Order: sequence, then C-alpha cells, then structure tokens
Amino acid sequence: MKVDWLIVGAGFTGATLAERIANGLDQKVLVVEGRNHIGGNAYDCYDEQGILIHKYGSHTFHTNSKLVWDYLSRFTQWRPYFHEVRACVDGIKIPLPFNLNALSALFSPQYAQKLESLLIRQYGFGAKIPILKLRDSAHEELGFLADYIYQKVFHRYTIKQWDLKPEELDQSVSARVPVYVSRDNRYFQDTYQGIPLHGFTTMFQRMLDHPNIKVLLNTDYQEIADEIRYKRMIYTGPIDSFFGNKHGQLPYRSLRFHFETHQKEWYQEVGTVNYPNEYDFTRILEQKHLTGQVVPHTTISFVYPQPYSPGENEPYYPIPRKENSQRYSLYKQEAEQIRDQVLFAGRLADYQYYNMDQAVARALTLFKQIVTE
Ligand code: FAD
Repeated sequence: MKVDWLIVGAGFTGATLAERIANGLDQKVLVVEGRNHIGGNAYDCYDEQGILIHKYGSHTFHTNSKLVWDYLSRFTQWRPYFHEVRACVDGIKIPLPFNLNALSALFSPQYAQKLESLLIRQYGFGAKIPILKLRDSAHEELGFLADYIYQKVFHRYTIKQWDLKPEELDQSVSARVPVYVSRDNRYFQDTYQGIPLHGFTTMFQRMLDHPNIKVLLNTDYQEIADEIRYKRMIYTGPIDSFFGNKHGQLPYRSLRFHFETHQKEWYQEVGTVNYPNEYDFTRILEQKHLTGQVVPHTTISFVYPQPYSPGENEPYYPIPRKENSQRYSLYKQEAEQIRDQVLFAGRLADYQYYNMDQAVARALTLFKQIVTE
C-alpha cells in the first residue's frame, strides 16, 4: 500500500490532521489506530442498556477559540450544555469551582455573608483567585477560608488523584484551583460550550469520511509500518515508546472506570460529583446530563485513579513534576532530529495534558506549518 501520510492515532489530533491533509492538500492518508474504535479518549458509544456513555470519562467541549469551534462545527451540530460539578464536603454538595453559592451552602447565613463581603471588597465580584493567593491573604478570615477549601476540597482529592501530596507536584497544580467570587455554577466560562449533537464518535466519523482517508483499527503502527510506503508520518502516541523508552519511561496516572446502570431516570443532580475525602474513587459521572438522552434509566461510572502500567491500562494524565518535563525534553530533542520523516503532536506525543480544543488547535497549527514548509 502506498500513501502520502501515515498517521498514528485516531483521536482529536490524528483525525484533525487526517481531515486537513486529505481535504486541504488532496493527499492520501492512512490512519492507524491501536484501539478498536476511532475518537481516542473522546470516544462515546451505547452500552448494553442503550445509554450513550463516554467510555474514557466524561468529555465536555469548551473553547474560547472561534477558529476551533468553527472548524469542528463543519462536522457536527451542538447540543448546548454547561458542565456543572459538585464536591461532597461533610455530606453537603457544593459547586466547584468553589464560589459564593458554596459559602452559602456550608456556613451560617451571617458568616457566609461576612466572607462574601470580604471577598468582594478585596478582589471584586467576578474575580477568580488562585487558592495559594487567598492563603497569603493578610486577612485572618480569608486565610481561614483558604485553608478550609484547601483541606476539604483539594488536599485528599489530590492525594487520591496523583498518589502524591500537593507539595510533591508542580505548584501549577494547586495554583490552578480557584475560588470564584461569583454565583455562576458553570465549571467552564468559555465562550463556546457544548456536546456534539449526535455524539463525539459520529463527529469523528464525519471528519474521517473522505476518499483520501483510510482507517485501520486494532493495529499498532509498528505491525504495519514496514509494509506501507509513505512519505511522512504523524505520530500521536506516547513519545517515549516511539523511541523504545531509551531515556526511561514517562510517568502517567491512569484511571479505572466502573460502570453501573440504575433503574431510575437520574442518579445525581449534575454530570460530575467529586468525593474529595471519602471512598477510593474520586468522582461519579453521569453522562446523560451531557448527552441529554431521554430514557427512564441511567448509567453512571465511578472513577478510580490507578498507577499506569503500559499494556495493562491507559496513560491518561502526564504527572506534572519537574523531572518528568526534563525527561520529556530529551525525547523532544530526538524528535527534532527526525522531523523530516516524523512529526509528533497530541497529548501523548507532547507529554502534555490538552483539553480537546487545545489538541485541535495544536493540530491546526501543525497543518499550517506543513502547508508553508
Ligand atoms: P488521544 O485521544 O489519546 O488519541 C491518541 C490515539 O492514539 C489513541 O486512540 C491511541 O489508542 C492511539 N495510539 C497510541 N499509540 C498508538 C500506536 N502505537 N499505534 C496505533 N495507535 C496508537 N478535554 C476536554 O476538552 N474536555 C473534557 O471534559 C475532557 N475530559 C477528559 C477526561 C479524561 C478522563 C481525560 C483523560 C481527558 C479528558 N479531556 C477532556 C482531554 C481529551 O481527552 C484530550 O484533549 C484528547 O483526547 C486529546 O486527543 P489526542 O488525539 O491528542 O489523544
């Protein structure tokens, strides 16, 4: 078989590049995917009970990029959806990010009002204050609030999620946790938000539906790379395994999803409920909230963080520590040297957590570079 491009991986990065090259350059592409489906981690499918589930955890699309939104809108209509997350704190479900509604839910009306006035006076309504900044506040009661949120919402959750204490992770992890001086319960405030009307997988099918694109599932690229004649490769898999782990393995955190179907219309009030302090799982997901499917029963999934072992489970989250970024940069240098033959992109090849819109933006930028080369 002879193609112009061999693309490894049919997730957002691989599918966007395949579509752009096939449509924009009129060149032939073979997409090789190790799993038995397209869509990467955004894959959705119907379970045995007929519920549309997100197999690798709930995916909500959100972006501020008109370019990315318009690009994906060529392949799907959108179901308007604003994701909401609750955290269970001492048996009370509070909104995340922690906001003024959380204060009202947790404290007496007088005390909540006092903290609210202090926050608004000090930071202004609508501000998002990183928890570490609030911790540094000279005001005693705001310092108390920061410690309270850190302990009740962040500390144990971080240990469960990463099996590391917050201080063992890059500061950027805790710096990202905001307190939102607002009553807006939406998890994201991006301009564009939604779920593909007929699901993510259908959107991927449309992206890859082109006479210049062939897709081979259930195949590791190494099984066929020698049999295919291609001019250039785009690799969206783990960069360390591409180079035979010669600089050591890049560590990831994995997840296990335990699905259950319940014979009632709804299991919980929103799509995601976090359990920072109790249980071994970190959250319970209910994707019907995202998909809007109307059926009398529902499927939920419990999310259990796990150590990652190649071949046994999936690499989900790069572990944000300095030594891991340093190891990645060794692989990046190797990748630069073979740039004429192989281009690396995507969350696994860049060893970086990307939201879906960031993966698409990265792919569109790479395509632009390919065109101008
Ligand atoms: P992937 O989707 O991982 O695709 C890479 C593909 O390459 C995979 O299908 C893999 O099987 C294949 N592959 C790897 N190696 C090989 C090989 N050797 N041979 C053949 N195929 C190979 N983003 C959001 O914007 N909103 C969310 O709500 C959100 N929720 C998330 C929840 C979870 C639990 C996780 C883990 C991620 C979430 N994301 C979310 C991020 C989103 O999943 C990523 O942005 C997206 O998957 C990145 O696409 P990708 O193509 O780079 O990687």
